[in-house]
Amino acid sequence: MLKRNPFFAVPVLAFFCTFVAWAGPVTTVPWNGYVGAVSFTFDDALKNQIDNLKPILEGLPDVKVTFFVTNMSNGLQGNAAGFAALANAGHEIGNHTLSHGHMTGQSESELNSEIVDFAGTIEKTLESAGANVKVVSFAAPFCETNESVQKIIAKRHFNNRNCGWHGRNMWETEPEMFNIQAKIWTRSGATAAEMLSSMDTAAFIGDFSGANPWDVQVTGGSWLVVLNHGVTDDAGDDYSINPSDIEKIMKRAVENKLWTASFGTVAAYHRAHFVIDAAESVASDDGFTVSWKIPDEHMPEKVPLRVKIDTQGVGEDAVVEQDGVVIAPESDGTFVVDFMVASLKVRKARAGEVGGGDKPDSTSAADSSAVGDSSGTVGIARTPSVPGASFADYAVFDLNGNCLGTSNGFVVPDRLPRGAYIVRASGSGLAPVTKVVRK
Ligand SMILES: [Zn+2]
Repeated sequence: MLKRNPFFAVPVLAFFCTFVAWAGPVTTVPWNGYVGAVSFTFDDALKNQIDNLKPILEGLPDVKVTFFVTNMSNGLQGNAAGFAALANAGHEIGNHTLSHGHMTGQSESELNSEIVDFAGTIEKTLESAGANVKVVSFAAPFCETNESVQKIIAKRHFNNRNCGWHGRNMWETEPEMFNIQAKIWTRSGATAAEMLSSMDTAAFIGDFSGANPWDVQVTGGSWLVVLNHGVTDDAGDDYSINPSDIEKIMKRAVENKLWTASFGTVAAYHRAHFVIDAAESVASDDGFTVSWKIPDEHMPEKVPLRVKIDTQGVGEDAVVEQDGVVIAPESDGTFVVDFMVASLKVRKARAGEVGGGDKPDSTSAADSSAVGDSSGTVGIARTPSVPGASFADYAVFDLNGNCLGTSNGFVVPDRLPRGAYIVRASGSGLAPVTKVVRK
């Protein structure tokens, strides 16, 4: 039996109020509404990742991971179809350099070719194999970087995964984006039981009150980054993990209600939180606007953030919109906004318009505590009360903003795998509405 820390019985809202005091009206919900997060990363573009891990991931639709690919041993080129299929299933493909060399000894032009040019090669290679990928994440081979290497990484990526230590990141500690630590798996260095226990620690399950003061203190859920290589039963390969073990560990993460998302997705969410929560409001005629600066142009094209918005007296029928698109509230009153739009507006509802600030009706998602929640409930946006008008087009996007085609309503088409999506409805004479829907 798992022992859940009694602290966690305290409502999440109380947690905010106790620890967070930000300037602006927008407050990001930690870890997308989950207790914590975990990003599994798999390095080196190994064939056994396609052969042995891909089938496991197909059985775990709530788990999205990151593959840091290289062309060492023809890894990327030789397995392009497999990695393209993984990308199309919602997994992230990141950059692990062209030839996996020791970068701290390389010249600037070598670094440019190994890092910057190879990011483009990954995108082109996977495009030829049928996947539309934008590379935003990086992992340094051997975890070797220095300031000049990091400068080149930053020309094309918004993060760098490094190795070492416990690999946990706390919500209120701003991460060093080009030096994010990861817990490393090796057969000789860790046991499957220890990795399972790490899934509990990230979810704040356990009794941490007796920890020595000089130990790393565990005070809540956190984001754990895990570094893996091969996935095989070959006991002679110290860096590989048994397929049955990685499956067990991933299942524990889901069971513990960790947000099991790619490295780039969680890194962008975490980075964005420090910017949007500090952004202040500027009053307008019918409400207010909040604007912020995008801290890194290489972040994903869309960064959906689950936020609470203090409507500051605009009223119960306040409408939240971005770029003229009304954002329908989730059933818990939070909004999923796109950080990359760099502003949002809160205004009074216009005549005939459905306000966004009131409680959704009973047909809305029964449980939308988190984007990507596995409840299987599909959120249904309310029909706008404009006489005679209705939405004509519904476009479906993944959470990274890639358009996946159209739908017949706020539903995920059958052809797409289980998971969370954004549907944008539009129609003549109506303000477009976006809604997170799940399947
Ligand atoms: Zn490597």
